[in-house]
Amino acid sequence: MAIHRHFVLTLILASFISATNALADSTKSVILIIGDGMDDHQITIARNYLVGSRGTLLLDKMPFRGVAQVLTIDEVSGLPVYVADSANTATALATGQVTSRGRIATSAGKDLDLPTIVELANRKGYRTGLVTTSSITDATPASFAAHVSSRYCESPAAMVDIVKYGIELGSCIDDLKANGGLGSISEQLAKSNVHLLLGGGRQYFTANNEAGQSSAMKLAAENGFTIINSWKEIDHLHPNDKVLGLFAEEHLPVKLKGEAGRSAEAPKKSMLNHINNYFGEVTLPSPMNCIANSNFMDTPTLKEMSKMAIKQLSYENRDGFFLMIESASIDKQSHERKPCGSVGELDQLIDAVSVALEYAKENPDTLILVTSDHTHAAQIVPDKSLFSEYPVPVYTPGKIARIFTKEGGILAINYATSNFEAEEHTGANVPIFGNNVAVSEKLPTYMLQADVFSFMARYLELN
Ligand SMILES: [Zn+2]
Repeated sequence: MAIHRHFVLTLILASFISATNALADSTKSVILIIGDGMDDHQITIARNYLVGSRGTLLLDKMPFRGVAQVLTIDEVSGLPVYVADSANTATALATGQVTSRGRIATSAGKDLDLPTIVELANRKGYRTGLVTTSSITDATPASFAAHVSSRYCESPAAMVDIVKYGIELGSCIDDLKANGGLGSISEQLAKSNVHLLLGGGRQYFTANNEAGQSSAMKLAAENGFTIINSWKEIDHLHPNDKVLGLFAEEHLPVKLKGEAGRSAEAPKKSMLNHINNYFGEVTLPSPMNCIANSNFMDTPTLKEMSKMAIKQLSYENRDGFFLMIESASIDKQSHERKPCGSVGELDQLIDAVSVALEYAKENPDTLILVTSDHTHAAQIVPDKSLFSEYPVPVYTPGKIARIFTKEGGILAINYATSNFEAEEHTGANVPIFGNNVAVSEKLPTYMLQADVFSFMARYLELN
């Protein structure tokens, strides 16, 4: 009798263990972390500044490191375009398709809606979430859950003759609901099955629709989203709530800035040098420190948002999740020639990576990938020119910021892609890092950016 009882107990235990294993096997999740504009220059600048040139960042310790080649095509000819923007690159990551600049999960030329990993994952029962430090309607998050022909169609009030910075930037006439389209980005996010959306961009949700009667905010509430406008409100959330968190009218403030708000500046020419390039003197801007940005104080950090997102998505969830986390302003600060700002946002990304790795420690079937969408303008240049002994002024034709590092050096960062108010992206391949799952699943060390989608979709068995 005792033996029999023991046998039954063993059977029960064995079936429990096998059920638990089956459960663990099926609970796969993906956390994709995107540093917008985070190229090897940005990473090296951050390393030099944050931990010193001999230090290592958390990214440097990740088990997988490779590169992804970025592809873009011309809207009309379909020919290669060698420098991308965040819309077409996020579309590649989210859909596996190469499209033209400015497009959000739609194809070049034919304007077809391309299914995104968020939509495919939702259909398979995964929870999904998008977290960003930009407006949640900005190109990167938008490409995971909306389909429009132009990234600028962020609200129902901005679908026709969109004007930004006083310049006309196009229209999304075919995407208008009145024309049978899906509407603006904010309306599509509000109607989506995404479980959690955190970022800025409140203004795009309060703008009224085409008929002037409703807003994306109203649509989101009707679709079951709990809407929060400040970080304090997360205390009132239930872990199962669908959440739309809008923490700024536009993008979230950045963590660091240059002393006195300084950005990179043009070298100053003496009177004589103005007359003749070979004479007189050219003085570089004085070195500066990076300081904390006081506007950042009330802003949720990317770490806090990532932690909260993982908690919401994993709560009593046996089906796994897909989460995209973006540190958006590495790029935006680089457009504005603000290296301190980019460093702070890269630091924020690293904090988000640490949160993801922490989760994966307890949940080993979690694939973590960290990558960038495109490379950017900032370059580390010599603080003292290699040609400084020549008896003529030698200096950069661009704008330069010289930053005091904690290890006692001066880090000179140059921006010279444009004579316009904003710098441009550049066209090199981007880094990609992964956790041990990326290694065991044999992610190749060289890939096309669109292959990142296929790898994640295969891991989640979405095909
Ligand atoms: Zn950009």
